[in-house]
Amino acid sequence: MTAHKTGYFTHPDCRRHEMGPGHPECPERLDAIEDRLLVTGVGDALERCEVPRASLTDIELAHDRLYIASLRGLELEISEQLAAGGPPYAHIDSDTTMNAHTWDAAQRAAGAVIAAVDAVMAGELENAFCAVRPPGHHAGRHQAHGFCFINNVAIAARYALERHGLKRVAVVDFDVHHGNGTEDILAGDERVLMVGIFQQGLFPFNGEVPRGPNMANVPVPAYTKGMEIRELVEQEWIPRLEAFRPEMIFISAGFDAHREDDMGQLGMVEQDYAWITGRIRDMARRHSQGRIVSCLEGGYNLSALGRSVEAHVRALADL
Ligand SMILES: [Zn+2]
Repeated sequence: MTAHKTGYFTHPDCRRHEMGPGHPECPERLDAIEDRLLVTGVGDALERCEVPRASLTDIELAHDRLYIASLRGLELEISEQLAAGGPPYAHIDSDTTMNAHTWDAAQRAAGAVIAAVDAVMAGELENAFCAVRPPGHHAGRHQAHGFCFINNVAIAARYALERHGLKRVAVVDFDVHHGNGTEDILAGDERVLMVGIFQQGLFPFNGEVPRGPNMANVPVPAYTKGMEIRELVEQEWIPRLEAFRPEMIFISAGFDAHREDDMGQLGMVEQDYAWITGRIRDMARRHSQGRIVSCLEGGYNLSALGRSVEAHVRALADL
């Protein structure tokens, strides 16, 4: 018998990673979520859970060993640089930067989704939301990309398959940007179905042609409204998911498709996030014993982020 509880996984280390003044993927994102859950009382309805560090073996479920070693090497370099009075950052690409805490934060972020999988599989929780950063869905097997270092959702999906012996898991991605890292890692893995909706022609400038038969990518033009997105979810995602009958569903929960978020130009609002989440929750209850593990990706307008996460978590917890 599964407990009808929603877990909330977060860790202070996830706040210590930052990429420089004015960077939109900032620690204050987590504060905005915490504040909103606090003032609305929604936080009281959630089970706060401990977050361990992910082990290297688990991170290697989705990433190349040499890539992981290079990230750890950069972390050491930053520490030495700092000790010598140098800058506190190492730049990976024009918008992705490590500081001395990035690796710890990434390990906690991946640790959160793994712990969430364990708790959901043990029946202690029905589902869970992980308020973590850095985000993960642009991180590929061999590379950091677009604010992402370690692909939390891809690791968790593989973890559920390999360590818990599940046969089919689904990944749902409603971030405004295509989850190219998750696709890089999971394309061609028949145990996984990934469905994504994202704005066409936006970073990372791909995804229109799926990289495997297990990918259902739905690009939408700028200025698509929430109601139209709901219709596409109903037409494009739901039949694929119903036919696949996943035993667990992962959500790459990015909230940057919100109409107040200027990282993209889509027109989602809180009620749309609540609707999509409710639709997934109902399906999970039919096919997956309710098992959902959702993980924060994007969402950069702090007020819209807080409200959207509240709507998402309310729907997960049936509040
Ligand atoms: Zn995004």
